[in-house]
Amino acid sequence: MSESMCCYDPVTLTCPTCGHVALRLPTYRTCRPVPVPPPPAGPMGLLSGMGLGDITAASLAAIGVTKELVERLLGRPCYCPARQEWLNKIGYAVGIGKPPKKDQDVQTLAKD
Ligand SMILES: [Zn+2]
Repeated sequence: MSESMCCYDPVTLTCPTCGHVALRLPTYRTCRPVPVPPPPAGPMGLLSGMGLGDITAASLAAIGVTKELVERLLGRPCYCPARQEWLNKIGYAVGIGKPPKKDQDVQTLAKD
């Protein structure tokens, strides 16, 4: 297996493959494309501690479906927070996620 060299853009002095920036040209460097680092926590780590409604909202947001988008499409409030809370409670009942701590509850109520 032959190693390829960086092919720098003469203007930006940047290798488009690995993103390495040369100080000057020509620069001979073995091109090693940097693998995209995985997110700090795996999907399950990210989801742990989240309620079912939070997960649903996050999943929808991840594919571009946001509360704002839904409200714009429906032309009315989507009541997502209420549904999210409702889903959270169902999730807690079946062991998905954990109910927020008491003090967080108080803060949320106080904010509303
Ligand atoms: Zn390179």
